[in-house]
Amino acid sequence: MDKIRYFDHAATTYTKEDVIKEMLPYFSIEYGNPSSIYSIGRKARRDVENARTRVAKAINANSKEIYFTSCGSESDNLAIKGVALANKDKGNHIITSKIEHPAVLNTCKCLEEQGFEVTYINVDKDGIVNIKELEENIKPHTILISIMFANNEIGTIQPIEEIGKIAKKHNVLFHTDAVQAIGNVAIDVKKLNIDLLSMSGHKFYGPKGVGALYVKENVPFKKIQDGGHQEKNKRAGTENTAGIIGIGKAIELATKNLDNYNNKLLELREYYIEKIKEKIPNIKINGHRNTRLSGNANIAFEGINGEELLIYLDTKGICASTGSACSSGSTEPSHVLTAIGLNSEMANSSLRVTFGEENTKEDVDYLIDNLVEIINKLRNKN
Ligand code: PLP
Repeated sequence: MDKIRYFDHAATTYTKEDVIKEMLPYFSIEYGNPSSIYSIGRKARRDVENARTRVAKAINANSKEIYFTSCGSESDNLAIKGVALANKDKGNHIITSKIEHPAVLNTCKCLEEQGFEVTYINVDKDGIVNIKELEENIKPHTILISIMFANNEIGTIQPIEEIGKIAKKHNVLFHTDAVQAIGNVAIDVKKLNIDLLSMSGHKFYGPKGVGALYVKENVPFKKIQDGGHQEKNKRAGTENTAGIIGIGKAIELATKNLDNYNNKLLELREYYIEKIKEKIPNIKINGHRNTRLSGNANIAFEGINGEELLIYLDTKGICASTGSACSSGSTEPSHVLTAIGLNSEMANSSLRVTFGEENTKEDVDYLIDNLVEIINKLRNKN
């Protein structure tokens, strides 16, 4: 094994050289606290604000509508809890889907424990949210709809524009977890009627430990973390200046290169799927065949244990992921794959491959050859 072949870009990406280069001074010479009034503090403030403008521009927002956080999970927490707490007098009902990331699902669970009512909308066999069911479930006391832009396991992209229209028609706020979509899909929050949007730097070649939340101007939301008055008194804590500079640069690069990036990923994904279909029998492609992130391929290999497959792939220097989360020794089938109708055996036989910028066709061939060999071996053993 001479090199690592990385096919897990939905889990995280490396940080681009150009991003690191812009971040580096903020660990040493530009270490001022953006809240300090002397010159190095003022310089840090200017640079943080410049990053805010870059993030805003990438989604067609205004810079004062961007709040920096520590990650996508924090952005989701702040969006949902922030809106719930600020709109309690209006209502206590939230609508979300069954296939959200745990950052949204567990936030909703937490609110349920505090007396909020949450409706979890079903998805179809491709993982698309049932729009009719969503609209029918809007009640006079519904305050928020939270539907992810694109799913982290199967890559399916939701009908965000339609959901935005429904939310607007019923005067309900609309949050979208766009952690997987940013850097992969062009997003215009105005055109799509999005009121709140979560993102995370490490999913688009930025650093880990920094995220952002877009909150449309005049949307009532409350801080959930007490402390200082940073981020317009909505998110206490000294700003992660280097991280903020990094997310600003990364999002600028990602939006500039979006078309080329998508074309490249699409080519790799289609090559991979077609070859797998040709070479490995008894498979199922999970998620919508086309309405999905260009770099995502999630395939169930009948009779295979996904965790075992991952271990074999690792011995060949291949990094990928399963659709299941290991909890206390037992492999729970993925809630996303069960929501699209897979039984636990098929769900546990699924492999998520997510392509990225550094992948080549030769890497994909290497992945395919190894998958064919390992799956044949495992199927003959069983
Ligand atoms: N939402 C989605 C859809 C994700 O895929 C992830 C991470 O994988 C998160 C939220 C959480 O982001 P973070 O890891 O930055 O907290």
